[in-house]
Amino acid sequence: MSIVTFPKTGDAQEAAAPRRKIVVAVDGPAASGKGTLARKIAERLGYAYLDTGALYRAVALAALEMGSDPSRIEDVRPAIDIVLRNLTLELLSSPALRRPEVSEAASKVAALPEVRKELLAFQRAFAENPPGDVGGAVLDGRDIGTVVCPDADVKFFVTAKPEERAQRRFRELQWSHPLLTLEGVLADLLRRDQRDSGRDVAPATPADDAYLLDTTKLSPPEVLDTAIHTVRQKLLTVTDARS
Ligand code: C5P
Repeated sequence: MSIVTFPKTGDAQEAAAPRRKIVVAVDGPAASGKGTLARKIAERLGYAYLDTGALYRAVALAALEMGSDPSRIEDVRPAIDIVLRNLTLELLSSPALRRPEVSEAASKVAALPEVRKELLAFQRAFAENPPGDVGGAVLDGRDIGTVVCPDADVKFFVTAKPEERAQRRFRELQWSHPLLTLEGVLADLLRRDQRDSGRDVAPATPADDAYLLDTTKLSPPEVLDTAIHTVRQKLLTVTDARS
């Protein structure tokens, strides 16, 4: 991983040995709680945060708006260009990206190798050189610990039972999408899980060195405390090994 920061102060030896930023990878299926966890870890540690699912969602939304078939690379290619040319962190937080039809289309565009390849550089650049004067970056997605940042300092794979995940997603969407049913949300999640973990390229799977966090019976603060404790322990080990 490339070097991105130089110490502002310190002795000559320190200045000669630039430190790279810490990277925390948070992967897991939809509605597992990984997004909330990753954002909170970033807040607690003062790191930058990137929701990589939003990149796939942005391509999917652009494709849908152009009337394209999100499963066909010939159709999706112009959408990739538009997104890469207009990519800002504001765009990635647009509420339109959260619509159920965009979720479905996102997992279709994400199965296209060319889409993944095009979005990889942005994700790696963010991890290596996060915006702001911060000590590190937290990225959440499906393949952060395995493909985007295989040498991340700490990796989590967050899971929860499908029924619990469907409940969470249903509660989140029921007011804005009154026609949704819990059964429908569960079916959508299972279909997406299968597509995400069954695809040939970068399937959603835990890295060998990831910490598995099952959030089914844990509240978000409990999950966060466990994760922060794990990150601190891991970073102490890293620091010890470097000194
Ligand atoms: O995480 P989120 O549900 O917002 O992601 C939307 C879709 O983007 C996922 O269903 C998955 O297909 C895809 N994705 C991916 N790799 C990532 C992040 C998201 O394939 N790193």
